[in-house]
Amino acid sequence: MLTGERLSKLKEEINVLIPYAVPPEEIESANTFLNTFAEDFFALGIIKDYYQTLPNAYEEALIKISVLEEKEQVFLMLLSTTGHHYFYVTNADESFFLSEWDRGLEDKQLLTFFGYADSKSFAKTHSDMEKCREYRSLERMDEELCPSCGVKTGSMHTLGCPVEVCPWCRGQLNYCNCRFEQLDVEAFTDDIMLDKFAVKLEQKGRIAYAKEQRPTFMVEEESGE
Ligand SMILES: [Zn+2]
Ligand SMILES: [Zn+2]
Repeated sequence: MLTGERLSKLKEEINVLIPYAVPPEEIESANTFLNTFAEDFFALGIIKDYYQTLPNAYEEALIKISVLEEKEQVFLMLLSTTGHHYFYVTNADESFFLSEWDRGLEDKQLLTFFGYADSKSFAKTHSDMEKCREYRSLERMDEELCPSCGVKTGSMHTLGCPVEVCPWCRGQLNYCNCRFEQLDVEAFTDDIMLDKFAVKLEQKGRIAYAKEQRPTFMVEEESGE
């Protein structure tokens, strides 16, 4: 099946689900939201999972998707309706509902994976829902822009951007252990250490954004069986 056909099939499946999952007065906003992602497998997959499972069984239209964390092609997302917000974890193939925003994130394995000591430190980092980065399809499809921090090809990422490549190990700078090795410490305990690391990083030479750094499922595949 060609990419375009697969996309419209997925969209049709969601169109069938919406009237069961959303009260009549919200169907229009549900469809409008859906249409902004008509070309986006990643978002359509998440939207379908949401309407299929309807966490907590509230019948509400999905109106916003935000990205909280991304590491090794695993994304922690926040799915929002007018009244509720849900944590989902997702990769290119599937997504799972975790919990509601108000209840926080308790999954130990996931917290560790994303580098958090516990649910409190996670809640501290993500305390303001309004500051969560909204997931936007068009930005993502533009290969000349970093899908996370938005800089152009050849420019330096915003420090802390999960797409930035580490000049020492070539892994994800945000998550590798080079920062500790470079400063010869076990952990970062204050901002001074972060500043020192930033200096080391400049001396070594940071790696600018290039489209090869995009997570692989974001790279358009033109197989067309
Ligand atoms: Zn970036
Ligand atoms: Zn590294």
